[in-house]
Amino acid sequence: MHYVILRDDDTNALTPVECLEQLYRPFLDRGLPVNLAAIPKVRTDTTITDGTLEKYLFARQADTPPALSMASNRRLVSYLHGNPGFHLAQHGYEHSLFEFDSDRRIEIQNRLERGADALTAAGFREPRTFVAPYDRFSRISLSEAAKRFRVISAGWFELRRLPFSGWPQYALKRMLQPSHWRVGRTILLTHPGCLLSYKRPYAAMLESVKKCVESQRLTVLVTHWWEYFRDDRPDTAMLGILHATAAWLAGNPRVQVISFDELTRGHVALIS
Ligand SMILES: [Zn+2]
Repeated sequence: MHYVILRDDDTNALTPVECLEQLYRPFLDRGLPVNLAAIPKVRTDTTITDGTLEKYLFARQADTPPALSMASNRRLVSYLHGNPGFHLAQHGYEHSLFEFDSDRRIEIQNRLERGADALTAAGFREPRTFVAPYDRFSRISLSEAAKRFRVISAGWFELRRLPFSGWPQYALKRMLQPSHWRVGRTILLTHPGCLLSYKRPYAAMLESVKKCVESQRLTVLVTHWWEYFRDDRPDTAMLGILHATAAWLAGNPRVQVISFDELTRGHVALIS
């Protein structure tokens, strides 16, 4: 059996409900869980390295406050509660640039705690999975996240640069495939880059997803909702690829789509 975890990053208080509905209805209707890495209290002025505003903030207005917690968007929160196929992971705290690529331990601890609080304040259960903004960790932020979360999902190269050998308090155990590990009670999962992205060639996208899923026991498929709604209109070609992916995942008897939480419940044997 091949397992797939679908991870969509950057849902925040400014995410229009219609975007998630258009993207994920075919998944929800087929009973395929969708893991949203949600920003607990998004800063609404975050720019990327070229100085432009983060694309997940495209619904920002002139009078939008500088930070917005998930609870401030009641329509979004009630939509997510009404569709139990969505599972929330904690995506940083405010998603400022490289916010967890820091060695300031107290600040990291505060961000982790305030982020979890902001999600529970919106009525969601305490998050058990953590995704760092930009997939960027420091050694300290990764060890602090490992103390609090049951699953950490990250990019392969980011984890590889971290000195695990400097963690004497933990036993690092490799799982069935070399890109996933267990540290104490926490499962570390890497992903093969964002296969579902407008930056990839459209004609080969679905095929590369299939190949990747069929080549390993567990694949974390990462995408970003806002990539499908660039330039104020839906990218229908890319939506079509995502929905074809849903159909393929649901129709393949050798593939099972699971949530991050299902891993922690021990439903999937991944530890060698
Ligand atoms: Zn992000």
